[in-house]
Amino acid sequence: MKALIVIDYTVDFVVGKLPCGEPGIAIEPRISELTRECIQAGDYVVMAVDLHDEADIFHPEQRLFPPHNIRGSEGRSLYGTLNNVYKQHEERIYWMDKSRYSAFCGTDLDLQLRARGITEIHLVGVCTDICVLHTAVDAYNKGYSITVHADAVASFNQLGHEWALGHFQNTLGARLMHAGKEYKV
Ligand code: ZN
Repeated sequence: MKALIVIDYTVDFVVGKLPCGEPGIAIEPRISELTRECIQAGDYVVMAVDLHDEADIFHPEQRLFPPHNIRGSEGRSLYGTLNNVYKQHEERIYWMDKSRYSAFCGTDLDLQLRARGITEIHLVGVCTDICVLHTAVDAYNKGYSITVHADAVASFNQLGHEWALGHFQNTLGARLMHAGKEYKV
């Protein structure tokens, strides 16, 4: 069994308050397809979703980014067809709020993976060079083997996106996949 971790693919991060824009929109079909495939395969599927409270003045992102993914807001909904996939298979998907870039920080993700004997994680979502990167770094440090689907990650920063793909492969030992086939950068 492997885990698919879908990172921050919400309205705010694709077209809303802190948007990836076009590159983020472009990966929608592939993210939804991979999520459906993993559900069908019986894999562990996690939606790791940023959660912020506007009044939380001590949060470090307060001075770095405009308010985004605010509790109870429409911006926290999954974007596009992924939201439909989630609603269809809600009982098979672990919705996991997170408050930092990494899906491992302050969450029970590591415990949930260990409980299932999962050592292989697949990463998709946004942004390649922020939340996907920080999640991959933590996964590396915890000893997970990492696969990143390059056709299902995106960033508003193309240079950062490209750099992060190289970092996944060359520094974190991740496998990069495109259209389901392994490739090298
Ligand atoms: Zn955030």
